[in-house]
Amino acid sequence: MKIHEYQAKAVLRKFGVPTPNGVACFSVDEALAAARTLGGKLWVVKAQIHAGGRGKGGGVKLARSEEELRTHAGAILGMQLVTHQTGPGGQTVRRLLIEEGADIRKEYYVGMVVDRVSQRVVLMASAEGGVDIEQVAATSPEKIHRVAIDPLAGLTDAQADDIARRIGVPQAAMSDARAIFQGLYRAFDQTDASLAEINPMILTGAGALVALDAKMNFDDNALFRQPDIVALRDPDEEDAAEVAAARYGLSYVPLEGDIGCLVNGAGLAMATMDIIKFYGGRPANFLDVGGGATTEKVVEAFKIMLRNAELKAILVNIFGGIMRCDVIATALVEAARQVSLQVPLVVRLEGTNVELGKNILAGSGLATIAASDMADAAEKVVKAARGSKGGA
Ligand code: ADP
Ligand code: MG
Repeated sequence: MKIHEYQAKAVLRKFGVPTPNGVACFSVDEALAAARTLGGKLWVVKAQIHAGGRGKGGGVKLARSEEELRTHAGAILGMQLVTHQTGPGGQTVRRLLIEEGADIRKEYYVGMVVDRVSQRVVLMASAEGGVDIEQVAATSPEKIHRVAIDPLAGLTDAQADDIARRIGVPQAAMSDARAIFQGLYRAFDQTDASLAEINPMILTGAGALVALDAKMNFDDNALFRQPDIVALRDPDEEDAAEVAAARYGLSYVPLEGDIGCLVNGAGLAMATMDIIKFYGGRPANFLDVGGGATTEKVVEAFKIMLRNAELKAILVNIFGGIMRCDVIATALVEAARQVSLQVPLVVRLEGTNVELGKNILAGSGLATIAASDMADAAEKVVKAARGSKGGA
């Protein structure tokens, strides 16, 4: 799960990480009021979307007067902000962060992730902070310094100071750096984060270190014990299909291709995607309806898949164990009744109540292409997708 910059900054502040003062706003009037409350002569208008690269995309603007602030807030609110992290369609800006303008002397990069190789949380930092860290990682990875953190000891003073020295933090700001790195680690650890980034962490003209941007992602599997984090959820920023899937307890991941897959069991779903690829097709999604899915759940799964305008064909691949083939067949018929199905539907059923399932499909008048096994199913669905105009 992801949250907005202003929310991540609020989390980090609780752990002693300094940030500029700022106010989240939903309208131009609120933005003007926020600037007056903040005071000063320089403000920053920052688009709040769940993606980075906003500055380059025109979503972060300095304002030196109320007039400029009004102009920028008006232009950014409601804009379709395209960044390298949003995809070509961009993301609609519905919230702003109005923040005090900072006096930036230097920008550093600070990040934290779970490193699967060392099986530890790793702190990364670089003197090359700001907007182009992806470039640094690609062309000069040696400029990104790393340290793995022992979960029992936490991030030690010595480790924090060493990283600070490597990225050239001035001596006078060493204790600030320690507070930020250790605060970031405690925040990461205690909120079950999967990623945290401060890019940039800045050195101000006055010589202090401040988190000027903040990004945090959280491990979905830990959300059950993070009610304060769950409360920060913004469904506007999440994929509508994924939100709907989560509501019905379905595992759904949208992909780039055009062949929808509805499968029971994650392993079979992976194998189904593999075999579609093997036969030259491209899966449009991963969708596992689980072992004990009800008709209602399967109907919803179908509807979620059909939201995808790129869809050219669907493969239903069910191995009935706990999941009975007749339940799936009933759900398919019901789903086809509720949505107008305009793409070819290939069905491979095997296992518990398979004959019953096949009879239900045959008796329904629903136009399905029956497949005998996985290879047959994949071959048929790839062929069907090639010949299909699409238009789910
Ligand atoms: P993104 O990473 O999405 O582009 P940032 O929050 O990092 O967004 O902002 C981009 C750049 O805008 C920063 O690198 C910094 O130079 C400038 N900036 C951001 N916030 C402020 C601020 N409060 N005061 C002055 N400049 C800022
Ligand atoms: Mg940034």
